[in-house]
Amino acid sequence: MEKLLKDILNAAGVSGYEGEIAGILKNELKKSCDYVEIDNFGNVIARKGKGKKKVMLAAHMDEIGLVVKHITKEGFINFIKIGGIDDRILLGQRVVIKAKAGNVFGVIGSKPPHLQKDEERKRPVNYEDMFIDIGAKTKEAAEKRVSIADQAIFEPNAGVLSGNLYYGKAVDDRIGCYALVKIMEKIKADAEIYAVATTQEEVGLKGARTASFKINPDFAIAIDTTIAGDTPQMKERDSSLKLGAGVAITIIEASGRGVIVPEKIKEMFIAAAKKNKIKYQIDILEGGMTDGAIIYMNREGVPTGVLSIPTRYIHSPTGVFNIDDVNQAIALATKVVEGINK
Ligand SMILES: [Zn+2]
Repeated sequence: MEKLLKDILNAAGVSGYEGEIAGILKNELKKSCDYVEIDNFGNVIARKGKGKKKVMLAAHMDEIGLVVKHITKEGFINFIKIGGIDDRILLGQRVVIKAKAGNVFGVIGSKPPHLQKDEERKRPVNYEDMFIDIGAKTKEAAEKRVSIADQAIFEPNAGVLSGNLYYGKAVDDRIGCYALVKIMEKIKADAEIYAVATTQEEVGLKGARTASFKINPDFAIAIDTTIAGDTPQMKERDSSLKLGAGVAITIIEASGRGVIVPEKIKEMFIAAAKKNKIKYQIDILEGGMTDGAIIYMNREGVPTGVLSIPTRYIHSPTGVFNIDDVNQAIALATKVVEGINK
């Protein structure tokens, strides 16, 4: 696995706490862009090229995670969840609390199932009944290492599963951020191209809202992850997307509550994919949306497309994706933007 991809996947950045990942992306984007800034909202905005039209490429850099809420007198840590996290995936997870003095390692625990009453055992343990164990004996000892409001991320674990299949935490949407860096490296277009690594997507598409207002683009592409359907018990009807079958061109998000991509843009993406022999799949999403949903409603409306990378186990501590699909997304976004004035 390329070191840059690994660093991007492993960096910390729970929604509202994007400083670490923002620093990495700013440094990378500096190498290929004319100008890079971190704006009022924490978004990384990079600009390259000149031209009449402004194009905005967006990928969110925030990740789902936890925030320290309270420390018990025995030195255990109560937390809240940031972003869509199913309580059932939390127990036994290893987390890293990003404290002021450095990283604090922890394990998520609860009352053992052996001691639960029969009815208790029937329903999943609620996150409010869990805690992070950092091995502290007392509240005072814990407070020396951790503070209320510190973010906690799932333990960084990026690696290769097999061949082109990679895994890591925060795949949603750090692979989109990685794509932004790669697109800006190679793109050549007669347009002002903006790459934006957005903040706070997982909690309401917030960074994309302020960044798209500031840039006021003529055209935009959101790059994100989407649900893969190629694992046991998934029905083709629910998702027919397969890892390795190419970039997903998302047409409808959240049954129409998110982006509904205009016919013209859909045709433009498909034509560019066919012409350049880029593998693609068509994605119709019943749940979930992207930054595209807020960008396309910006000001008087912005023509917006969405490119997605099929991902297994989305919003869990470990997602799985195919690097080839990421490369197809990079290629398609580049070709579409380069064709914008032709
Ligand atoms: Zn996402």
